[in-house]
Amino acid sequence: MTNLGTAENPLRVAVIGSGPSGFYAADALLKNKQDIVVEVDMFERLITPYGLVRGGVAPDHQKIKNVVKVYDKIATNERFRFYGNVEFGKDVLHEDMVKHYHQIVYAVGAQTDNRLDIPGEDLAGSHAATEFVAWYNGHPDYRHLTFDLSSETAVVIGNGNVAMDVTRILASSIEELSRTDIADYALEALKESNIKRVVMLGRRGGAQAKFTNPELKEFGNLEEAQVIVSEADAFPDALSQDYLDNNNDKTATRNVEMLQEYHALARDPNKPKEIVMRFLVSPVEFMGNGSLEQVKIVKNELYMSDRGGMRPRATEEFETFDAGVVFRSIGYRGVPLPGVPFFERWGIIPNDEGRVTETHEGDTLAGEYVVGWIKRGPSGIIGTNKPDSQATVAKMLEDAANSTTHTPVAPTREAVESLLNERAVRFVTYDEWQHLDKLETERGEALGRPRVKFTNPDEMLKLLDGIRA
Ligand code: NAP
Repeated sequence: MTNLGTAENPLRVAVIGSGPSGFYAADALLKNKQDIVVEVDMFERLITPYGLVRGGVAPDHQKIKNVVKVYDKIATNERFRFYGNVEFGKDVLHEDMVKHYHQIVYAVGAQTDNRLDIPGEDLAGSHAATEFVAWYNGHPDYRHLTFDLSSETAVVIGNGNVAMDVTRILASSIEELSRTDIADYALEALKESNIKRVVMLGRRGGAQAKFTNPELKEFGNLEEAQVIVSEADAFPDALSQDYLDNNNDKTATRNVEMLQEYHALARDPNKPKEIVMRFLVSPVEFMGNGSLEQVKIVKNELYMSDRGGMRPRATEEFETFDAGVVFRSIGYRGVPLPGVPFFERWGIIPNDEGRVTETHEGDTLAGEYVVGWIKRGPSGIIGTNKPDSQATVAKMLEDAANSTTHTPVAPTREAVESLLNERAVRFVTYDEWQHLDKLETERGEALGRPRVKFTNPDEMLKLLDGIRA
């Protein structure tokens, strides 16, 4: 056999997942400077690619979604293939991959949510923000969910950018939402929404909030909603003020300034909705007879932890208020893949700088790699994944050069495709996805929207089968 990584014997890599981290890994592999010839096959559980760029980024943040143009360009490489509608662990197993690929990279992100572990968390009306986000973005697995938006007050727990997205969608006018690519059914449901007040609860102060300046600024531009920040919430406590005075934390400083600007604003009679931003409070119980009726919160105070950060500590001061629906937005969490190690405590695939390890801090496994949120946990923006994926790919190329890889018995595309065909897995190609993409955009153009998404997999496959025939 000729050397690995040549035109006769290319390094065959399976990328599992088609979000940003998967595409950046594919790009770094295909453009490697060591002249290693690589073939990348990307497997995606859904019919459509792009992971959270399609299913997570807020529908009113269209500019961010332009990043997919970069991914489309990567997909034009003749050594790249996309296999949509193929689920790892079901349609193809780890043992199949090992037969066909020298290396496997897991780029599956973090698909579930963290839990608060408080009484009433599972009451009807208490939802994970991750589900609401997937629902309004037209994710096929979540399109059947229903959210009762008939009460006047919604609560959003958490102070990250996902909490900001959820709050903004709930507080936007229908005209604002109609200009986006929000799923049609979500637009219809939100038309019927009765929500007048969205209360955001941050367990620490405004100076510690994880949201970024543009997101906080956007709240002030909403057509129908006024941001309400009390004096106590607008002005930092002594510990936070001391931090701001002695650190050049531009994001925190500007966030606090904006909170004070919101606090100083006069009530606008043309804005019938409110976004109430509360800090230093934690939910302790969700209450209701069968479904959520009230939220009980406790006031927190900050203390300096041994590790240097400011942490919240509950006081004895409680408060209860009425609310009909709550969205828990306290971070995403990875889920295990069949046949792949998982470090439960952190919700990630255990790894040493991207090389998968048997256990946390255990030995590395040849041929197995990880990128993105399932490597480092759910943090950072889309662009954060580029250097993260490049770092893992550097290890992959190093290992390939040393022939520390899987030793596949049938390392060819033909073998993979015959396996899929034998199992009657109807895989979707990139060309097919681009056809759907075009149709979605055309449907949107007619309505002055960026696109109208397909959300029903049966409908999508029927359309594609029609074209194939
Ligand atoms: P995140 O930024 O990590 O925020 C999680 C929030 O949940 C924090 O406010 C955290 O508070 C809070 N929290 C955690 N446990 C809690 C508990 N038990 N009780 C109450 N609050 C709790 O996560 P995310 O909002 O899910 O976002 C994930 C990543 O995607 C982030 O890096 C984010 O910036 C990024 N993202 C970016 C955009 C954008 O660029 N527009 C949009 C969406 C998401 P503490 O700070 O006290 O831990």
